[in-house]
Amino acid sequence: MLTYDVLIVGSGGAGLYAALKSRMEEDLQVAVLTKVYPTRSHTSAAQGGVNAALANKDPTDTWEQHWFDTVKGSDYLADQDAAEMMCREAPEVIREMEHWGCPFDRTKEGKIAQRPFGGASKPRACYAADKIGHVMLHTLYEQGLRHGVNYFNEWFTLSLLHDGQRCQGVTALDIRTGQLHTIQAKAVILATGGYGRIYWKRTSNAYGNTGDGAALAYNAGLSLKDMEFVQFHPTGLRRTGILMTEGARGEGGYLLNALGERFMSRYAPEKMELGPRDLISRAIETEVREGRGGPDGEVFLDLTHLDKELILKRLPQIRELCIGFEGVDPLEEPVPIKPTAHYSMGGIHTDMNGLTSIEGIYAAGESGCVSVHGANRLGGNSLLDILIFGRRAGNHALEYARHTDFPKMPKNTLEADENRIKTLMENQSKERIAYIRRDMGNLMADKAGIYRNAADLNQALEGLSLLKQRYKNLEVADKSKVFNTALVAALELGNMLELAELVAKGALERTECRGAHYREDFPERDDQNWLKHTIATKGTDGKPVLSFEEVTITRFKPEVRTY
Ligand SMILES: Cc1cc2nc3c(=O)[nH]c(=O)nc-3n(C[C@H](O)[C@H](O)[C@H](O)COP(=O)(O)OP(=O)(O)OC[C@H]3O[C@@H](n4cnc5c(N)ncnc54)[C@H](O)[C@@H]3O)c2cc1C
Repeated sequence: MLTYDVLIVGSGGAGLYAALKSRMEEDLQVAVLTKVYPTRSHTSAAQGGVNAALANKDPTDTWEQHWFDTVKGSDYLADQDAAEMMCREAPEVIREMEHWGCPFDRTKEGKIAQRPFGGASKPRACYAADKIGHVMLHTLYEQGLRHGVNYFNEWFTLSLLHDGQRCQGVTALDIRTGQLHTIQAKAVILATGGYGRIYWKRTSNAYGNTGDGAALAYNAGLSLKDMEFVQFHPTGLRRTGILMTEGARGEGGYLLNALGERFMSRYAPEKMELGPRDLISRAIETEVREGRGGPDGEVFLDLTHLDKELILKRLPQIRELCIGFEGVDPLEEPVPIKPTAHYSMGGIHTDMNGLTSIEGIYAAGESGCVSVHGANRLGGNSLLDILIFGRRAGNHALEYARHTDFPKMPKNTLEADENRIKTLMENQSKERIAYIRRDMGNLMADKAGIYRNAADLNQALEGLSLLKQRYKNLEVADKSKVFNTALVAALELGNMLELAELVAKGALERTECRGAHYREDFPERDDQNWLKHTIATKGTDGKPVLSFEEVTITRFKPEVRTY
């Protein structure tokens, strides 16, 4: 059995930052376990920027202003004490990244450059061309290597172990050999990213964003929070859903409908293309429904009026993606786009230190929910969240591990996982991963997407229940042990089905509109009844049980949200 003081599951920004922090104490053994090679985590795909009120571009910016923008953006569902802490500490973590060598773009004076982003009252997204996530992740990985973090690359975590009170560790599959292992740990930090892939049909997310951490926490009896809130980013490429960063609009890009109108003047006359994502995605959907979209239900991101040099310098990756995946050069013509499932506001229910209800079990980054993003995350705040809460979880786990002994381990830790895998491998049926996954993706996009209503959500739940039945018969066609990626995909699909049900269930219960959750049959925000978090736990019959928790409101009273 492998043994570590602190074990981090996930090597995105949250996991690597947490690892670095826990490893600062030289005598503790820290390992990161990740199903992909660390620098391939989805953080590396982040394009636009990371928020901090450095006031480099606009000297009047303050962290309080950032705090207010975050709370307003969240449609008042964010816990204001947590959002306050995040915005207050933002400049410090960005400087820490800078000192570790993160190559941000610079102003003429040599300060970190900042650009405007959606829903923000001041230009505060720190950037590196359109590759900020890539440079952040590499910086953190290098620092981890330097400080002696151990990495288990291409290991898939299967289950979370605890005795009802405290953490014991995890079980995992070494993808390369097909062997199962138990890893004993005093503290486990889940930093496994979001679950955008439940919208398989239309998402900006990496193939690995299947919500494993949230699903295995849920299966181990922990609570998940606000799962119904899924962000659609307004500008995904028409055919693939690949992201066109908000930075493209931050640099001056327009949104046009098929008639060539800058339609945002109808929806956010002041902020126009820099309104928040929930509002713009709905605006696009409305334009298309009312017949002003293109033949495939697309609208257009127009950069043709921008300076060519600016595009080549600040948005080079965007241009490459447009040419490669749409055959359109944004220097020459508007880019066809559609909203794309992008970010999971919900996740594992934690406090401000990333701690769950079980001692020693933490969650951070997109897999966790503190909550700072509430019902709608602002662009640039996720990369900030992973730094702030990766760091806090790392620090807290380190203190905890230092003052605690190794947990007693149960017998037969691997039995349940062995049986699960055996069934998948030995089933004989025509059920294949790709079909169930496709049907799940279509169902979620069509019935639990940007616009929702009770009839559709009920159909989504019925459909998901059938898909779960089909999943029981799923046969993994590849019977080999070594690098069995079909087995991994099957395990991921099981996790996604679990979470998709929670999204649809939460969305059906929440009879109001708030942030990214829009109910056509309840078109108003309802603070009287719904200014609260949804908490989901797994009932004894395997079905989700929902309860609710108050939102922490400190300074900003809920107001009507206009832009
Ligand atoms: C295309 C794109 C662009 C974005 N641009 C921005 C931006 O400009 N600004 C911003 O603030 N936000 C942006 N975001 C959001 C932001 O990048 C993510 O929310 C954030 O990077 C998530 O980081 P994370 O560390 O929580 O998880 P991730 O980076 O997603 O990493 C998850 C890790 O968990 C591991 N893992 C998962 N399951 C398992 C398992 N079962 N076993 C072992 N390991 C597992 C994976 O291997 C991976 O290492 C963007 C997102 C996308 C998709």
